[in-house]
Amino acid sequence: MIILARNNAGADSDVVARAITGAGFPVLRVPELYHLPEDSPLWTRLAALPAPLVYVTGLHARPAAWLLRRHGITATVVSRREVAGDAGALAAIRAVHPVSAASCETLEGETVARWYPVIDRDRCGDCHHCLQFCLFGVYALDADGRVTVEHPDACKAGCPACSRICPRGAIIFPLCQDPAIAGAPGREMSPDAAARRMFYARTGRPCPVCGRTEAGVGGDNCPECGRATGAPVETDELDALIAALDALPGRRP
Ligand code: SF4
Ligand code: SF4
Repeated sequence: MIILARNNAGADSDVVARAITGAGFPVLRVPELYHLPEDSPLWTRLAALPAPLVYVTGLHARPAAWLLRRHGITATVVSRREVAGDAGALAAIRAVHPVSAASCETLEGETVARWYPVIDRDRCGDCHHCLQFCLFGVYALDADGRVTVEHPDACKAGCPACSRICPRGAIIFPLCQDPAIAGAPGREMSPDAAARRMFYARTGRPCPVCGRTEAGVGGDNCPECGRATGAPVETDELDALIAALDALPGRRP
């Protein structure tokens, strides 16, 4: 089955659908799945389709594949951005899907304009930086203790901030104008370690690697949060010293 996203990146999806059915493939036309709400029944319907599945989309192939897998759907993705138009899409479909009885069905599903991250699980090292960094609760841990996009619609539209602090380039915003953040092939994010360290320095959030919430005294610096890893500052002793100094006679007010 060829799952064809309608209204994909500048495509006339009627023409594309005709070209694919004309070449002898069964086509299921769907909305662009990135904009399908999490609880749409269409996800369940698609997950129940028999293999082989090919998803033809206007998104880049890498985020589209992980988007589908997040919903239990395994498909070969043909990105119309990444192949040479309709002819390229047909060639890619022929390479992975047998010709069978041509058909064309449309599945409706209500969509809303959405903006949220997709995690490339092949790259993610579960370092938890995104979990610490996102102040809007988009990320959480799943039952296996792995970072997941738990509340995608809490993400702030148009902002790809966490993709810049991920050390592995695993966070993709498929609609981002920056091709590297949108998951374009051959384009890689440059992790911004300085921004990550500044975040930990300013917020006092616990570093998932060294566990510190503040810098110690001496020692090496944690490569992730930049905090000194020496002995922690003994605040009790410091407080006691200040209190003793405050109590000294003749202390200036
Ligand atoms: S920051 Fe990147 S590598 Fe680390 S848990 Fe998040 S997605 Fe995975
Ligand atoms: S872009 Fe901002 S709001 Fe969205 S997931 Fe990343 S840190 Fe959270």
